[in-house]
Amino acid sequence: TSEVKRSKVELFKEKSNFLRYPLNEELTSEAPNINEAATQLIKFHGSYQQTNRDERGVKSYQFMLRTKNPCGKVPNRLYLVMDDLAAPYTKKEYVFAQETAENIAALLTPQAGAYYDLWVDGEKIMSAEPPEVVKARNDNTHGTNFPDSPEPIYGTQFLPRKFKIAVTVPTDNSVDILTNDIGVVVVSDIDGEPQGFNIYVGGGMGRTHRVETTFPRLGEPLGYVPKEDILYAIKSIVVTQRENGRRDDRRYSRMKYLIDEWGIDKFRTVVEQYYGKKFEPFRDLPEWEFKSYLGWHEQGNGALFCGVHIDSGRIGGNMKKTLREIIEKYNLNVRITPNQNLILCDIHHSWEEPITAALAQAGLLQPMEIDPLNLTAMACPALPLCPLAITEAERGIPQILKRIRAVFNKVGIENNESVVIRVTGCPNGCARPYMAELGLVGDGPNSYQVWLGGTPNQTSLAKCFTNKVKVQNLEKVLEPLFCSWKGKRLQGESFGSFTTRIGFDKLQELVDKWE
Ligand code: SF4
Repeated sequence: TSEVKRSKVELFKEKSNFLRYPLNEELTSEAPNINEAATQLIKFHGSYQQTNRDERGVKSYQFMLRTKNPCGKVPNRLYLVMDDLAAPYTKKEYVFAQETAENIAALLTPQAGAYYDLWVDGEKIMSAEPPEVVKARNDNTHGTNFPDSPEPIYGTQFLPRKFKIAVTVPTDNSVDILTNDIGVVVVSDIDGEPQGFNIYVGGGMGRTHRVETTFPRLGEPLGYVPKEDILYAIKSIVVTQRENGRRDDRRYSRMKYLIDEWGIDKFRTVVEQYYGKKFEPFRDLPEWEFKSYLGWHEQGNGALFCGVHIDSGRIGGNMKKTLREIIEKYNLNVRITPNQNLILCDIHHSWEEPITAALAQAGLLQPMEIDPLNLTAMACPALPLCPLAITEAERGIPQILKRIRAVFNKVGIENNESVVIRVTGCPNGCARPYMAELGLVGDGPNSYQVWLGGTPNQTSLAKCFTNKVKVQNLEKVLEPLFCSWKGKRLQGESFGSFTTRIGFDKLQELVDKWE
C-alpha cells in the first residue's frame, strides 16, 4: 500500500472519472501503461487539492492508494510510481525540468559584457567587463587570447528581438508553454525516467493594431530530441533565428514570423542542418492543465511551499513589508510565477501557522478567500509606467473584475465560477491577453478590443470579437455574452470554449439585440 496520507475513498469514487484505471483494478506492473495510470492519479490528485481545504484554507491533498501485493512483493516499477505519487513536486520530471531550464539559461547567457555597458554621448562610461578586458579590447592587444567574437552563439550581433523559452513537464501548463519562442517539455519513459524532450517553436503574443500581418501565434511541434541533445537543439534553433530572423523591421523580428513565413517543415530542415541530425517525431502528450500553485502544498521533500496571490504582481506597502519580514525571518527561497504570483519555498511545517497569520494580516489571503476571477486574472503595468500604453490595465483591472462579478451575479452565475481575464494597455500583449477567455486589449483612451476564445488551460488562441469598447460600456458587451453562457453552456463548458462553439456572428447578434 502506498499511503499518501489519510484515506478519502469516497472522494476517489466521486472523482473516479479522472481515473483511466478504475479503483477496483489494481495498479500493478502489468497495467498496460503504468506511467499513464500515475499521470491520471496525479491529475486526480491536483483536482482534489483544489476542492478540499481546512478552515484555514490549508489544502489537504491526501488519499490512499490500494495495490495488490501478495507476500508484500512490490515490483520495481510499481514502487517507483507510488513514490512519485507521494512526492509530486520533487519527482524526477520536475527536477529535470528545473535543471534543464538552468542549463539553457547558462548556455544562452551572453559572454561579452556589451549588455552591461553604459554609454553616454558615444562614450562608454561604465562596463561590467573586468578593466583588463576592456583595456585589452580598447588597445586591441588581446591577440589570440581574445577571440574576435567572444560570443560563441550570438557571433557579432545578438538576436533580432527578445527570445522566450519555457520548460515544463507533461500536463503542467503553468508556464503558458505555447506562447514562447521555444517550449520544452520533459518526456519520460514508463518508469518516470526522463528520456528526452518535445520541443515547440514559434509562439509569441505581440501584434500591432490595424496591421493584419502582425499577429499572436501559438507554438507548434518541432519534434523530439533525446535528453543529451537538448542544448544542441536549442542552440540550433537560436542560431537559425539569429541568421534568418528579420532585422529590417522590428515588428516582424520575432521568430514566430520566420516560422510563419517558412512553414514548420522548412524551419525544421534548416534547424536540422545546424543540429546535425533529424528531429524525432513529437511524442504524444496528455492534456495540458493550468496549475496556479496558490495556497499551501507539500513540497515533496518534507518541507512546504505557499503560493501567494499578488494582484498584477504589484508588491507594495504593508504587503511588501510583511513579505520581506517572512522571507528574512525564515530564510525562505522565493519563486516568481508566470502568473504574477509569488511562491514561498522551503517552509518548515511548524512555520505554517505563523506565516499564514502574517500573510493574512498584510491582506495576502489564501486562495479560497479571493474571488476566483482575481486568481487567474492578469494585467500588464501599462499607464503610467509603460511608454507604449494606450490605456489603463493594472490600475483598471480591480474595478473591471468587480464589475464582471456584478454581471455574473446579475445573470445568475455562481460565485465559484470563473473566467480567465487578461488586460493590457496596448496590443503588445505582455499579460498574454490573446490566450485569455476574455482578453481586453487597449485600443484607445479608455477603450479596449474584446478578445474571446482562449481556454482555461491556455491551449487556444483567442480571436478579436469587437473593437473600441469604451471601458464604461463593457457591460453592454459582456452581459449578453455571460447571460448566454449561463443559459446555453454545455455541462462544464468554459466561457472560452462556449464562445468558440457558438461563433462570433451569433454572439454579435446577441450583443446587438441586448436591451
Ligand atoms: Fe506596455 Fe502593457 Fe503594451 Fe506591454 S502590453 S507594451 S506593458 S502597455
